[in-house]
Amino acid sequence: MTLTEKILARAAGKARVEPGDNVWVKADVLMTHDVCGPGTIGVFKREFGNQAKVWDRNKVVVMPDHYIFTADSKSNRNVDILRDFVKEQGITYFYDVIDDPDGHWHFDPSKGMLKRQYGSNYAGVCHTALPQKGHTRPGEILFGTDSHTCMAGAFNQFATGIGNTDAGFVMGTGKLLLKVPETMHFRLEGELQPGVMAKDIILHCIGEIGFDGATYRALQFDGSGVAKLNIDDRMTIANMAIEAGGKNGIFEFDAQTQAFVDYRCKLNGTRTAYEPIERERKEKFVYELAVDISKLEPTVACHPDPGRRKLAKELGNIKLDRAYIGSCTGGKTSDFLEFARVLRGKRVVIDTFGVPATPEIVQDLQTARWGDQTVWEILVEAGVQMTENAGCAACLGGPVDTFGRINTPLKCISATNRNFPGRMGHKESQVFLASPATVAASALTGKITDPREYLPN
Ligand code: SF4
Repeated sequence: MTLTEKILARAAGKARVEPGDNVWVKADVLMTHDVCGPGTIGVFKREFGNQAKVWDRNKVVVMPDHYIFTADSKSNRNVDILRDFVKEQGITYFYDVIDDPDGHWHFDPSKGMLKRQYGSNYAGVCHTALPQKGHTRPGEILFGTDSHTCMAGAFNQFATGIGNTDAGFVMGTGKLLLKVPETMHFRLEGELQPGVMAKDIILHCIGEIGFDGATYRALQFDGSGVAKLNIDDRMTIANMAIEAGGKNGIFEFDAQTQAFVDYRCKLNGTRTAYEPIERERKEKFVYELAVDISKLEPTVACHPDPGRRKLAKELGNIKLDRAYIGSCTGGKTSDFLEFARVLRGKRVVIDTFGVPATPEIVQDLQTARWGDQTVWEILVEAGVQMTENAGCAACLGGPVDTFGRINTPLKCISATNRNFPGRMGHKESQVFLASPATVAASALTGKITDPREYLPN
């Protein structure tokens, strides 16, 4: 069995499963957020009754993150709906935007978009915050009401996005009926070269198979090249499994996984016990691709889908209006460090927006010093509009006042993960997906640019 099959077999209490089998699996964690949480709660109450209790109040994790820093009153109200439900149910893990458990969330636009408006419990973008807060464990089953839940496959777990109806059912029962996916195998060998990032690996892989090339399939990433990828890199790759239609993405367990998970679980007082899944010799794959990652070059997914692969050096004729770094995929500390490495001492020539995924990342960037400046200061001096209001922001457009949202038909290069028409706002805008390094180099020139021309010595 493949890694995915082994996890699903264990969660289903079976010795073996085959692709295509329908099995009931037990959930270890159900995550929901402000966009899908209210709908999920509605389904849960409708189907299980107004007085029903969630199956396990320690296994439902509630993380508002999407439409937070907006004056849109309905979006603000969604956070209040989550808070009321958490109180009613006694849910342990709620990363509220405000500190007052009896308060109401209200974003105040008069304070501007850049200065922090959240309280001390807020965690930021769910997929980046789940591991930071100690909710991702090897060998477990994570369901989330968000398609990029697959990001947690970086931690050797089965993690997948589900709709509100399924999530309402999981909330009530702790189980879900799943069809076991076939597995596609991506064997990564070699080592990334300077200026090439994990984002380039996944854009390369999706370019090979197309944006629907992995529909309802597991994507297993292994090989000697993985050992040299850090946890953030693996998260970037697993995150975008869904951009090829994948059910989940998954990595092997190793010492890096263990160190990260153990540290984060202890730090946050979450469950520390887990049982990783190891590969076995007999794995059946429906597709195999070996990638020598040392040969990859900075890669871009062109408008209008994540499978439109080109090399950055081939696209120098595309003039840009905007650059954006942020999201679960591209808004991690390591992403901003690489971004800053390219921008340091230079100045962007197009509007450039920076949105860290979580408050912890804001803090990292405001405390990490290069010489006599923090990384945050370096970015601001380079002309990047950096906001402390960590969240999804313009990654999925959002309400019209969302920071960085594309409100006119602009061309934008972005470190985010999805570029279908209208994804970041205006339906006639064009989004080009790239690594943080490529976004930085392109922000310096105003056209799509290979970052290797701008790397410091
Ligand atoms: S940052 Fe973007 S991709 Fe990630 S959860 Fe938010 S909207 Fe989805």
